[in-house]
Amino acid sequence: MEYTPSNQLNSTDSRECIECGHNEFTVTTETQTFLYGDTGKEVELTAHVPVWSCTNCGFSYTDEAGEIIRHEAVCAHLGVLTPAQIKELRKRTKLSQADFAKLTGFGEASIKRWETGALVQNTSADRFMRLLLHFYPHSIQALQAASQNLTARDTSLSQTKRPRFRTSLSQESLSASHHFQLRQVIN
Ligand SMILES: [Zn+2]
Repeated sequence: MEYTPSNQLNSTDSRECIECGHNEFTVTTETQTFLYGDTGKEVELTAHVPVWSCTNCGFSYTDEAGEIIRHEAVCAHLGVLTPAQIKELRKRTKLSQADFAKLTGFGEASIKRWETGALVQNTSADRFMRLLLHFYPHSIQALQAASQNLTARDTSLSQTKRPRFRTSLSQESLSASHHFQLRQVIN
């Protein structure tokens, strides 16, 4: 399983070698393989990660970009949206994490974890977000309507009394109800 990220690397970032303090690096892409999954069921995943090498002392390392790419390889393997895709979905709605949580019914903490890659969303959450993406913007409009109805209902219940319904019974059914008796069932 191989995954090549679409994001571009920014090699103009200022960096300092932790070994010698030099600030010039070359970036090469290294193919890394790693194991993922429960013991006994591990699969080998491949990720192409940027490796920074100090031009002075040769010290090399991978950084956060490498972490993200490895995580994306896991998401591709699991067939779930990547953190970047989830963030992109939310950014399209122009909502904060808190408001996106209110709209979707997801927990705000979950959204935070999915977007940072600290947690991989479960299948139902993943499929729900796929639908939101596929039917965007209608999907979001539908959720907005639903959450407005919910808010309106909450407000009306708290401010006014629940409606009461009174059923008028015919004299016949009233008298029948007085004669109603439970019969013992004999098997
Ligand atoms: Zn160095």
